[in-house]
Formats: sequence, structure tokens, C-alpha cells
Amino acid sequence: MIERKSSREIAKQAQAGAIVAETLQLLADEAKPGVTTGELDRLAEKLIRRRGGAPTFKGYRGFPGSICASPNDMIVHGIPGAVALGDGDVLSVDVGVTFRGFVGDSAVTLAIGEVAPETRRLLAVCQESLHRMIAACRVGNHLSDLGHACQTYVEGEGFAVVRALVGHGVGRRMHEDPQIPNFGPPGRGPELREGMVFAIEPMITAGSHEIRIDDDGWSIYTTDGSMAAHFEHTVAITADGPQILTYGSDGTSVVDRSV
Ligand code: MG
Ligand code: MG
Repeated sequence: MIERKSSREIAKQAQAGAIVAETLQLLADEAKPGVTTGELDRLAEKLIRRRGGAPTFKGYRGFPGSICASPNDMIVHGIPGAVALGDGDVLSVDVGVTFRGFVGDSAVTLAIGEVAPETRRLLAVCQESLHRMIAACRVGNHLSDLGHACQTYVEGEGFAVVRALVGHGVGRRMHEDPQIPNFGPPGRGPELREGMVFAIEPMITAGSHEIRIDDDGWSIYTTDGSMAAHFEHTVAITADGPQILTYGSDGTSVVDRSV
């Protein structure tokens, strides 16, 4: 069952989302060659707690980090640690914050230093695919219209959409119904209604869409070693159209900044 939130609940969730946006901005400012993902994790946790939030991922099924930090051919769910960023890397940082009972969830893939032009294009296409999915978040559309918008655009650009990982409903819990694939035919699945809140998160690669899970039980990589990108916003469906809940107090996010 897809839970629907009241406008009051959505406003609360946007408060959690604002802390997420602030944290992603901090990570974007600090992610440079030589910095480790463990250092980024500590900075993020400190900021989230200073704002009165809790890092949603920490302890989730035993996950040890406050953020997910996934470089290069790692798609998502990377455990922060001793890995230092290098010039030309990309890094997906994914942040979840629980604040006053609600969860905000957002991610961005950052270019570290000078990145190859084709890799930069991969990031730009993933970012645009997120916005095309958000544009499909209108009352009366169907859930699969989101994935269809993503797949047609991304494959038209020559990249692949990961099949095995999906977006999700989000609210008081990080993972609620429905699952939101980033591929598929249009016009299928439940009709979108006011008050639904989705974590929309296209994951795309420069090669095959196949994935493998690392021996650590978390890190998910492309099987062919190709670069991956991941962008995510938490979005409410309202009578006036989609409302992004993971914006900072200034009404913007690094997730939307040009790449
Ligand atoms: Mg996320
Ligand atoms: Mg998510």
C-alpha cells in the first residue's frame, strides 16, 4: 500500500530534506583529491547531529557509515573508509537524515578534480534523467511513467540503466512502498495521487547494466568495471505538481548544480 502524507507531514519531511541538502553541499565542498571517504563520513555525521537529526543509514541492517560513498565503478552502498579520492574520480554520496520522525533521502555524484569528458557526460545524463522522472510525478500519471522517462532518455544517450536497484517510497521509514524502477513501459502500475512521497534515484552506467555485490556485503559495482552515476531527490506529489523535499533553506541543491 502506498501511504499518502498530509501537507503538514510533507512540510516536516522537507525539514529533514533541508538537512540532507546542507550535508550534500558540505560533502561537495570537501570532496577533493587526497580526502578519504571516512573523513567525509565524519564531517557529514557531525553536521547532521548538530542540526538535531540522525543519520538514517547508520546501523541500518548493520551499515557502519552515516553516508554511502561509492567511487567510480561502484554504483551505490559504499562503506566510507580509508579510500582516498583521486583526481579524475567520481564519487556518489548518498545521505539520509531522520528529523522529528521523518526521513529525507538524496544523493549526488561528484566529479573530483579533472574528470574525463565522457564521464562528465554520464553524470549530466543521470542528473537530467532524475529531472525527467520528477517531471513525470503528476497526479493521474502512472508509476511506470517515471522509469519509462528515465530509460528512453538514458538509453538514447548511449548509457545503461541499472535494473537490480530501484527507488522507493519514503516517509517515517526510509523504505516504504512502492518500489520505483528506473526502466519499463509507460502507463503501468498504480496511479499517482496527491501526498505520495518518493525517493527517486536513477542509477546508470557507461557499460553494462549488470551489477555485482562485493564480499563486504554492501558495495555494489558494475560487473564490467564501467563508471556509474547516481542522483536522487525526495519528491512529494502535490496538486500543483512535483515538490522536491530535499532542498536547502535557499531552495536549491547541489544535486541540481550543473556538472
Ligand atoms: Mg539515498
Ligand atoms: Mg533512496
